[in-house]
Amino acid sequence: MATKLSRRSFIKLGAAAAAGGLAGGLTPQQSQGMGTPPNLLPTGPITQVKGFCPFCQVRCTYHAQVQDGRVVSLVGDPGNRWTGGAMCPKGMSIVELIGSPSRLTEPMLKVNGEWKKISYAEAVDLVAEKVAAAMKEYGPKINEHVALTMPLWDCRENELAALMTMRLIGCVNNMPAGEVCISSASNTLSWFLGANTSTTTVNEVLNAHTLILWGANINELYPPYTRWLEMARDKGVRIIYIDCRKTRSSIWSNEQYMPRPGTDGALAFGLIRHVIETGAYDPALVERTTTGFDELRDDCKDYTPERVSELTGLPVEQILTLCKAVEVSPSILWLGGSLSRYTNGIQTIRALISLQGITGNLIGSGRGIMTMEGGKPEGEKEFVDAMCGEAQAQGVNFRRLLALMKKGSLDVLFLNSSYRRYPDTKGVREALKKVKFIVHRGFFMEPETEACDLFIPATFSPESSGSHYGAEKQVVWRNKAVDAPGACVPDWQFYRDLGRKLFPDRYPKWEDPAELYELFRKTIPS
Ligand code: SF4
Repeated sequence: MATKLSRRSFIKLGAAAAAGGLAGGLTPQQSQGMGTPPNLLPTGPITQVKGFCPFCQVRCTYHAQVQDGRVVSLVGDPGNRWTGGAMCPKGMSIVELIGSPSRLTEPMLKVNGEWKKISYAEAVDLVAEKVAAAMKEYGPKINEHVALTMPLWDCRENELAALMTMRLIGCVNNMPAGEVCISSASNTLSWFLGANTSTTTVNEVLNAHTLILWGANINELYPPYTRWLEMARDKGVRIIYIDCRKTRSSIWSNEQYMPRPGTDGALAFGLIRHVIETGAYDPALVERTTTGFDELRDDCKDYTPERVSELTGLPVEQILTLCKAVEVSPSILWLGGSLSRYTNGIQTIRALISLQGITGNLIGSGRGIMTMEGGKPEGEKEFVDAMCGEAQAQGVNFRRLLALMKKGSLDVLFLNSSYRRYPDTKGVREALKKVKFIVHRGFFMEPETEACDLFIPATFSPESSGSHYGAEKQVVWRNKAVDAPGACVPDWQFYRDLGRKLFPDRYPKWEDPAELYELFRKTIPS
């Protein structure tokens, strides 16, 4: 039976159900095949299953407490060297999300504006049919007609499975979730240092003389790492915080400087100028390890303390204090994600890398650049090349993808991440209306669900095994703790099933994340 259900009506119905129950005995969630509210207190024995939080690269590990087939709580893993067993509220919310009565647990197809429940097998068949039709129609030009926006994959095997399917389809338009929010930092680190990751590990802050948190609000964004700030402060490390607003990280710092938003690059140029003008660098090291030093000197020469003061709004005395601070080594500079979100993000991060480079603080004990924005191990492109053959086309960025959508030339879009993250959300919403078929994998009735033609419910991390990586370049593994409700399936399963359906002879042979992990490990030895 088809049922009309918008997000607005869904919320209203949810409120009505919460207020007094619904006539007919079924909640709106049940009528849509959604999660059944857990209404019985668990009584059975508790087992513990080790896992990790997929929501950020601190990658906290936990022990899921499982009782009567349900995750009843997550306990941070005290054996985790980096977190000491802490987790933040976002990670802890997995327990609430996984058992939420609002969770959608069955595939739904939109037919004439109304939702119709279908089976998972029917959903996979339908997607395969749409993709096969597009492949037949466009042949080698398929890349302009199928695209995927990546979610924050909850394990690496999800991503590998999807990339293999997309590669066989002939589509390389796979938009990473961080294209808007972190790509300045990760790309700049890759371009200038050869890897999109920190050049140190967080424990090294204890060996630094100075730790500069540049736009890095560690306490609020990565709470488990606050312990490192605390230990550093107790050890006498000078913690300098540069951020245009007061945050909880201010409490953990010895001093804070508050430049105007978006003027961090000017401040960095002023500091570089000071280092060069006063000779507070090792010329032999600069000669040996850097290129373009003379150009850097020219670029920075006009950034006097007075000019930097005008641009940043910081008093000259504060700029001079910072100039003195960067003369002292060893130092670690912690890049905040916010630096990526200005239009001058790349140049700002480039300047900060240069500052650490010319002062000899890129690598070594108590030296380095910390970032929570990169850290992804290399190798997936090589792996997908080895498994499925090299890509026959170039991927496009989101702006070009948007142009394709606006033109109405996109036939199938795997809409996994939130389109609300992109600037011009309205424009994206309108463009989505011109996509012929949108598949969304998600959990709840959200704008992306409303925008799609086919919804296929996904799983939360305790419902599937898999591996991941963290900011300290650690690899973690989790075991499946509980079965997913209804027809929710992990991403690796959906993309594997779709790949097998479309390319029964060509899709690489593996059954589960453990096998895929092994396949990757053997193909791309570290
Ligand atoms: S700090 Fe990051 S990894 Fe840890 S619980 Fe929070 S979101 Fe998850």
